[in-house]
Amino acid sequence: MIDVRKRLKEFLDLYAHDIIYIRRDTRFRCECYVERSGETAPDCPKCFGTGYVVQIEKQRTRRNIGTVPESLVGINQLAQVGRFVPKAYVYYLEHNVKPEENDLILEVIWDINGVPRLIKEKHVISAAEQKLGYKGRVEFYQVYARYDQKGANDDKALTER
Ligand SMILES: [Zn+2]
Repeated sequence: MIDVRKRLKEFLDLYAHDIIYIRRDTRFRCECYVERSGETAPDCPKCFGTGYVVQIEKQRTRRNIGTVPESLVGINQLAQVGRFVPKAYVYYLEHNVKPEENDLILEVIWDINGVPRLIKEKHVISAAEQKLGYKGRVEFYQVYARYDQKGANDDKALTER
């Protein structure tokens, strides 16, 4: 029997790159959240505009440019912004990452010490599919992500903690 987890690990050992995974803790709102209006600050220096307390993780992944149904990535919604060409990516993440919709994936520039210095791209997870193997074990995640505009203080949120 093929051990898909092991295969993916070996593949990532060779071909992965590191990303920053922004995990939202949906139990706790960020202080920028305004309950009355339900709005969050897109330029919040803490939560990357998610409106929740977040955890910053380094993860490794492999990505492809996606051929993804528009409905899945919310491209129509994004197109209204007009200034950006929407790009959809498919990210492959290991079984222990447990990605969730609306968490963020940041493509960043790392310094020589492995510290993230600058955000190159910000992506919002539109859908996270569990890929199941033998006896329903989660082997890996296939994640669809759409490009999002970087907030004015996102770099600060990443580097000044
Ligand atoms: Zn915030």
